[in-house]
Amino acid sequence: MSLTREDMLRELELLPVWQRREVVQAEPAIPVMAPAATEPVAMQAPEPDLPPLTVSLGQGRREAIMQMDWQTLQECVANCEACNLSKTRTQTVFGVGDPNAEWLIVGEAPGAEEDRKGEPFVGQAGKLLDNMLAAIKLKRGQNVYIANVLKCRPPENRDPQGEEVMQCDPFLKRQVELIKPKLIIALGKFAAQSLLNSDSTIASMRGKLHDYHGVPVIVTYHPAYLLRNLPDKAKAWEDLCFAVKTMQALQSEQASPI
Ligand code: URA
Repeated sequence: MSLTREDMLRELELLPVWQRREVVQAEPAIPVMAPAATEPVAMQAPEPDLPPLTVSLGQGRREAIMQMDWQTLQECVANCEACNLSKTRTQTVFGVGDPNAEWLIVGEAPGAEEDRKGEPFVGQAGKLLDNMLAAIKLKRGQNVYIANVLKCRPPENRDPQGEEVMQCDPFLKRQVELIKPKLIIALGKFAAQSLLNSDSTIASMRGKLHDYHGVPVIVTYHPAYLLRNLPDKAKAWEDLCFAVKTMQALQSEQASPI
């Protein structure tokens, strides 16, 4: 079944778009007990029912997200209130880059600077990521898309919680479906474990080709970790070389299918 954008917004209870307007005072349909107040009570127009932006949990939400186009998905993420991170974020961080990229880089969650700017990896770790990409002749925005598992910043940069990951998971899944990358690079333990639904260590996940819903995944260290553990940069370089070789193989596979 294919839903239109309107159907999806309605399913998510984002339609119809309600607007505040002057409410003409009318007799309530259901009689309301008058308050036993001695002071006169100021008559107030009732608050119009605003549609809840929080999308209800469960199968329906995930399925609706799985049918969204890029723009609807962006709007849905921007308005998401499915977990408590919506209360502390400045803004959501959807992702950045080429939505038709062959390379998808997945990090953990926005930090303070990303939360302020609305773009992933713009802090110190981001600078290192840009250098890592440059080392394999890639550039942010050119054949590369960068996203995070979580679209909102966890306060004080604490670890993401299970509920937050569960609510955000369909957004990344749909991003992957729409981008159709040839290869995903998971940055750090959290992104790798979330994508691969695993509790393995980075050390045991490195150097292997994993799978995320049919897309090959390579795991490497998070740039923020590398900034604190400089000797491991050599291992990250090995991972990037492995990724380049894998991409070349995937590209030639596509160029000459069996
Ligand atoms: N760390 C991440 O994992 N993602 C960002 O966007 C920034 C820092």
